[in-house]
Amino acid sequence: MDARQNLKKYFGYESFREGQEKIINAILAGRDALAIMPTGAGKSICYQIPAVMLSGITLVISPLISLMMDQVKALNEAGIRAAFINSSLSEAQIAKALQLAEKGVYKIIYVAPERLESHDFIHFARQADISMITVDEAHCISQWGQDFRPSYLKIIEFVKSLPKRPIVSAFTATATQEVKVDILCVLNLIEPEVVVTGFDRKNLFYSVEKRKDKDRFVIEYVEKHAKESGIIYCATRKNVDNLFMLLSKQGVSVNRYHAGLDKEERKQNQDDFIYDRTPVIVATNAFGMGIDKSNVRYVIHYNMPQSMESYYQEAGRAGRDGETSQCILLFSAQDIMINKFLLENKDFSDLSSEEIEIIKQRDARRLKIMENYCRTNGCLRNTILDYFGEKVIKPCDNCGNCMKDYKKIDMTEEAKQVINCVAETRGRYGLTIVLGTLIGANRARLKEVGTNRYKTYGALKKYSESQIRELIYELINQGYLIQSEDQYGVLKLGDISKLQDENTHVILKVTEEKIQEAGKLKGKQRNTDKLTSAGYVLFDALRKLRTDIAREEGLPPYIIFNDKTLIEMCIKLPLDEEAMLDIAGVGVNKLQKYGQRFLAVIVDFKKMHQEDKTSIQDDA
Ligand code: ADP
Ligand code: ZN
Repeated sequence: MDARQNLKKYFGYESFREGQEKIINAILAGRDALAIMPTGAGKSICYQIPAVMLSGITLVISPLISLMMDQVKALNEAGIRAAFINSSLSEAQIAKALQLAEKGVYKIIYVAPERLESHDFIHFARQADISMITVDEAHCISQWGQDFRPSYLKIIEFVKSLPKRPIVSAFTATATQEVKVDILCVLNLIEPEVVVTGFDRKNLFYSVEKRKDKDRFVIEYVEKHAKESGIIYCATRKNVDNLFMLLSKQGVSVNRYHAGLDKEERKQNQDDFIYDRTPVIVATNAFGMGIDKSNVRYVIHYNMPQSMESYYQEAGRAGRDGETSQCILLFSAQDIMINKFLLENKDFSDLSSEEIEIIKQRDARRLKIMENYCRTNGCLRNTILDYFGEKVIKPCDNCGNCMKDYKKIDMTEEAKQVINCVAETRGRYGLTIVLGTLIGANRARLKEVGTNRYKTYGALKKYSESQIRELIYELINQGYLIQSEDQYGVLKLGDISKLQDENTHVILKVTEEKIQEAGKLKGKQRNTDKLTSAGYVLFDALRKLRTDIAREEGLPPYIIFNDKTLIEMCIKLPLDEEAMLDIAGVGVNKLQKYGQRFLAVIVDFKKMHQEDKTSIQDDA
């Protein structure tokens, strides 16, 4: 059987996605490989398919116990013999697993990096037939990243200690150049096939909502998406508790997660979320590491996060199954204050004052970039991609900003007033003072610094503070003004020569104040949108069956079949095993295990709803 046939047999998919085949072919030809692909692109299959085709065992080194367990469950469901060895097992269980492994029972074994130093494990590995070592989350090897794991450095010694060098393959979603170089060097990959696919997650719809009534937004949104699974991130525990209470009072099936809860409760709440018992979770950023749940339909940030890195990682937990999902950031100016406070109060023990200064500057810069993301009127997707070093050409037409309606206004005269005002300050003051001065605010602080005697005092008094703020940000964007990157954010003049030309205009794009309803954020159609109401009835029935099976098997529902697979069943209405096997996500093993039960539900539905169409597509 070739790779394609194995893909069909075990995973029920017809074709490979971008990059997968190249990596698989390289491995099958005996070469090392490095794949850098975004979350949800399908990295696992790139080593799992070769693993079943190579003669010996594949060892997968993975940093998180929960991820390993999930992967092993999913593999066993697909009919691939796999196991994990980690600290969640007793000594006796580990001995037993190694015994079975020696007998060649497993094709894939997941281990934590620490295991590579264990005497028993090394003993096992030296006499076993190991075809490949796969390093998952390979960025953990790099000291540049935030996820550095010193034990990852042991991998290379371990590989060297083996009598015969196996193929080494490495996988990560982290795309920065430093990390890539680190992985290649530290892991000592030999003439590897390197595949880097685009960083973009096309199924994610990004939007920034500037709202005062965040609570109402969240309540409306969650109610409109009642059957969907979502994560709501808050900056502080207190925010988590408040929002959790509020949603509970509204009758939402919701849980919470933060470091202030005891371990038991955290575990319970996390499991309830993963197993779809409570579809919504409100959490701090302590939540999410090692969560592989594929059907998270939305991630709302109740507060602005501290960096683009964190935002991309947290928002990226939406839509791992490739289905359209929303990443919404609720922004208010207060978020900046909260984050500054949190950063100021970070634990800096063990660091020299020089190091602290460097970190503080870096934090301030990252925060500023995040703020720009929240304030930009440009394409949000491009802002993200650009930050991570990917070249972008035109707006994506599929993010909150690209889909907004704008009005363009000529603010050239007003811009000149702003510049005059900054000139009058001689570059000594920040945004608040410049703003207050221009709108002619009656504030003690302005009198104190004397800007109430400026010529520009009150020059733009017919505008609101937020309008002028937008204008100032635009001027910074265009380089007419420069804002210092330290905590003071002092405004200075940039290159203003262009403005002396009569033909230069400063155009401000302002959003048409059409109040968008919280539930009606746009975005590409979801697969469920293709279902008619009859189709939904079937979808619900199949979901119910999936929940029952999940309970019987002690597995998360998405490991049985994901939503996409169920929706395809609703649309194609397979009535026998052969038709069932045509559904993406139905492999041979799952067909044998569950096929009949799902078929029974579909056949039943057909009897009751003979005439009804289940999908709104044109007859296919
Ligand atoms: P990653 O590890 O890159 O985040 P996963 O390996 O978890 O991504 O894959 C994400 C999802 O995509 C899974 O549900 C997986 O079954 C699915 N998938 C992977 N490869 C394919 C493919 N060739 N065709 C269809 N679905 C695929
Ligand atoms: Zn866009």
